Amino acid sequence: MTETPTTATVSVPMLVTTNPATGEQVGSWPIDDADSVGAAVALARRAADTWRELGFKDRKRALLRWGAHLVNHAEEFCALISAENGKTADDAYLEVITAVEHLAWAAENAQKVLGPKKVWPGLMMANHEAVIEQRPHGVVGVIGPWNYPVYTPNGSIAYALAAGNTVVFKPSELTTGVGHWFAAAFAKANPDLPDGILTVVTGPGDTGRALVESGVDMVAFTGSTATGKRIMAAAAQRLTPVVLECGGKDAAIVAEDADVAAAADAIAWSAMANSGQTCVGTERCYVVASVLDEFLAELTRRVEGLTPGSGPDASYGPMTLPSQVDVIAGHLEDALAKGGTALVGGPESIKAPFVRPIVLLDVPEGSAAVREETFGPTLTVRAVRNVEEAIELANASEYGLASSVFSRKRGMEIARKLRAGATSVNSPAAYAAIPALPFGGVGESGIGRIHGAAGLLGFTRPHSIARQRFEIPGMALLSFARTESTLSTVRKLTAFRFGRAK
Ligand code: NAD
Repeated sequence: MTETPTTATVSVPMLVTTNPATGEQVGSWPIDDADSVGAAVALARRAADTWRELGFKDRKRALLRWGAHLVNHAEEFCALISAENGKTADDAYLEVITAVEHLAWAAENAQKVLGPKKVWPGLMMANHEAVIEQRPHGVVGVIGPWNYPVYTPNGSIAYALAAGNTVVFKPSELTTGVGHWFAAAFAKANPDLPDGILTVVTGPGDTGRALVESGVDMVAFTGSTATGKRIMAAAAQRLTPVVLECGGKDAAIVAEDADVAAAADAIAWSAMANSGQTCVGTERCYVVASVLDEFLAELTRRVEGLTPGSGPDASYGPMTLPSQVDVIAGHLEDALAKGGTALVGGPESIKAPFVRPIVLLDVPEGSAAVREETFGPTLTVRAVRNVEEAIELANASEYGLASSVFSRKRGMEIARKLRAGATSVNSPAAYAAIPALPFGGVGESGIGRIHGAAGLLGFTRPHSIARQRFEIPGMALLSFARTESTLSTVRKLTAFRFGRAK
C-alpha cells in the first residue's frame, strides 16, 4: 500500500509499459538516471568476488536452479511476456524454453570451455609450463531489445554469469516488466546468494547510455544497428569491450532440388512468426525459376490463412513497437511504386497495431523492402536463374546476420558461400536453438558472438601464465648473462627447424 506523503516529495520519473494489443498499462517502474545506474554497477562490483569465487560447480548449481524456477513458473512468466510484447502464449513459452536450453548449456559447459588449459611452450621455452586461464571481465552491462525480451538478453546474461561475471541488465523500455521478472527469478531461486549478481536498471536509451558510460568492464548489446554504432563509439572512450548483436535482412534460397512444400512452410514461419519482428526472420527470398510457381502456390496457401490477434487462436500478435507499422507501410508503398506486385495482402493488410501477412513479388533489389530491415510480417520473393545468382543477391546486403537454404543435395555447398553469421539448411533458424552454435553477425549485423564456446570465451579475457620449471644451464636467452655460444646454438637449431622449407 502506498503511504500518504506528509512532507514535500520529489517525483521520480516513471517508465510505464503497455499491452501493444490493447494499450492497457502493464507495469510502471522508476527510471534510473546516471547516479542510480552507478549504484547498481557498484553493487554488482561488490558481488563480483563472491560470484567469481564460487567457482564453476556452484555457479552451475545456481544457474540450473534459476532455469528450474523459470520452467516451474513459466505460465506466469509467459503471461507477462504476452502482455508486454504481444506475442502469443505458445510463442512466449517457446522463447522461455529455448532460453533455458541456453542457460543450462552455458552452466554445464563453462568449466570445460573456460577451465585452465596447458599449452606446449615450444622448443625454445621447453623449460616452462604454459597455461591459459580465462578470467571474467568483472561487471557486464547487458542492454536488450523487446522482440525476444528473454531469449536475446539471456544469450548474453546466462553466458556472462556462467563465465563468472556479474551483470547489470537494462531491458528494453517496452518490455521492462519481463526484465525485472527474469532477474527476480534468479534471486528467488538463489536466496542465499548476495544481491548484485544480476541487477536490473530501468529506463529508455538514456539509461542504456549511462550504463555504457558507467565503467562496466564489458557491454553486451542486442538491438538496432544504429544504436549498436552509438554504443561502440561510447565504449571506445574507455576501450570497453563490446559484443553487438544488431539487425539483419536475412535471405532464404530455394534451389531447384528443394522439397518445395517444406521450404514454403519453413519460410512462411520464419517471415511471419512474432509478426516478423525477428532479427533472424526471413525478409527476402530467392527462388530458382523452375520451382517458382510451385513455391508461390505453397507459400500463398500457408500465409493467407494466418491471422494476427491477441486471442488464443491468433497466429501471431500485434506490432510491439507502434512506429514499426509506419516502416512497414513505407517499405510497401515504395515497393509497389517501384514496380513490385503484392501476391498476398497489400496496403489494406495494415490495421495498426495488427498487420496481416504481405508477400511481394519482383521488388527491385535497390528498394527499401529489399535493402532495409522491415521487421514486419512481410516477405519479398524473386525468381533467379540459378543458385549462383541467388547467392550473389543474398550476399549483396550490408547486413549479414543469418540465412537459410533449401536444397536436397547442395545445402551445405550453398551455405558455405553465404556471407552470414549463421545458416540453417532445410529448416528455419535452427542454429538459434542449438546452444553449442555461436550466434552473431557480420557487417552491419554486428561484431562478436554470443552462445556456444565462443560466447563463453567472449565474456572472459585470457590470462597467459608462463612458469619456469627449471633452468637450462647456459641457455638463459632472456638475460644479459646470455653468452655467444648460447646464441650460436640457437642459430643452428633455428636454421635446422625453420630454414629448410622448400
Ligand atoms: P533499439 O536499438 O532501439 O534498442 C535496443 C536497446 O538499446 C533498448 O534497451 C534501448 O533502450 C537501448 N538504447 C537505445 N539507445 C541507446 C544508447 N544510446 N545507449 C545505450 N542503450 C541504448 O532496438 P530495438 O528496437 O529494441 O530492437 C529491435 C532491433 O534489435 C532490430 O534491429 C533487431 O534486428 C535487433 N535484434 C537483433 C538481435 C540479434 O541477435 N542480432 C536479436 C534481437 C533483435
